[in-house]
Amino acid sequence: MRMPHSRRSFLGAVSAAASAVGLGGGASRAAGDDTPALLGGKKVRRERFTAWPILAENDEKAWMAVLRKKKWCRIDGDLAEKFEQTWANMLGARHCIAVANGTSALITSLAALGIGPGDEVLVSPYTFVATVNAILVHHALPVFVDTDPETFQVDARLLESSINERTACLLPVHIGGSAADMDGVLAVAGRHRLPVVEDACQAALAEWKGKKLSTLGDLGCFSFQASKNLNSGEGGAILTNDDRLAGECRSFQNNGRATVGGLDYSRSGANLRITEFQAALLATQLTRLEEQSRRREQNAAYLTSLLKEIPGITPARMYEGCTRNAYHLYMLRYDPAGFEGLPRERFLKALSAEGIPCSAGYSPMYHESFLKTTLESRPFRAVYSSKRIADYFDRIRCPANDRLCDQAVWLFQTLFLGPRSDMDQIADAVRKIHKNAGRLKA
Ligand SMILES: *Cc1c(COP(=O)(O)O)cnc(C)c1O
Repeated sequence: MRMPHSRRSFLGAVSAAASAVGLGGGASRAAGDDTPALLGGKKVRRERFTAWPILAENDEKAWMAVLRKKKWCRIDGDLAEKFEQTWANMLGARHCIAVANGTSALITSLAALGIGPGDEVLVSPYTFVATVNAILVHHALPVFVDTDPETFQVDARLLESSINERTACLLPVHIGGSAADMDGVLAVAGRHRLPVVEDACQAALAEWKGKKLSTLGDLGCFSFQASKNLNSGEGGAILTNDDRLAGECRSFQNNGRATVGGLDYSRSGANLRITEFQAALLATQLTRLEEQSRRREQNAAYLTSLLKEIPGITPARMYEGCTRNAYHLYMLRYDPAGFEGLPRERFLKALSAEGIPCSAGYSPMYHESFLKTTLESRPFRAVYSSKRIADYFDRIRCPANDRLCDQAVWLFQTLFLGPRSDMDQIADAVRKIHKNAGRLKA
């Protein structure tokens, strides 16, 4: 019983101290509730947002059924195959090959295309490291093409200038669940006869001109890792309309087998298979995906209408062709100039303190030491001359992406699964920080 009282006194003491050093003074007392939570005021939101994952009775039943049936590997069971058919039908693709995770989907897709040492793959720099690792494990070079900061997607207008005789593939990423400019990407691919692998890991059910993302290029990849909109802890899938590529993928992820459980081999490969447990969970989680996606989309659109009125906040723009956004991430640019110079880090801290979880997002991958270390490793040296590596580091500069990484703010998909009033609270919190930016900066 003493706790709430002593907590109140503590908060009171903080405001008094703030006034004493001239931070707001009488004005802050008059404003009452308006003191930022970071400075000891009341949080805009106390309750947590929707907990993730969402678990229902059908998930538990499906999981236990696999356990009891004792067919845990897809070679013995039929759930992986069933999920593949369902997901392919939902997305409008001829083939779906489920795999262990999204990274495996990307690695398998590049293997199916025969990407290997000496090849260059054009890729978005604004992505999760797995996109780039999938290229590096094949000893190919990830050539970063600068970002369109308005949309956070690869700038398709810049793709062509990075193409040379070693370019083997385009790997656009539908970051955040919004669409890369697929008209632009496919036009360049067509002109240069290059295959396209879409990293749609964040873009379940998202669309370009009414077609599901992952089905526009030659191959499309999904992740069902725990944070993603469709979640089985770990999991992944490849979509394709090409019978030959589907066969290559199916074989590669199954140790190069020619048939599912056989001992005859059609190529080299690895075991990247999905388990029956994952497939069972995907089937039940899938029953809720459409409704959740609709809610995310409605909430996000409403939040955009609120946030775009606040100076210094610019929600990511969608290309006109993006007819559906999965909103795995709600992305915006933060400009300190609209907030009396309040640095982004301080803004993020203040927003978190108000009860709104948020993140600064990705940092520029091409500046990270792991890339240099990898390219200087023995296997890479065996393939690439020192001059080619030096030229490579000159070519992959992405100044627009550098600036974007300094400005980005993310809100995660789980914030968009609740009622519309949650969006009002997010906007209230941002407005409160905006109003108090001067105090927060001091
Ligand atoms: C999650 C993710 C991946 C990797 O998927 P995993 O299932 O974690 O291996 C690749 N690319 C993007 C854009 C992702 O968000």
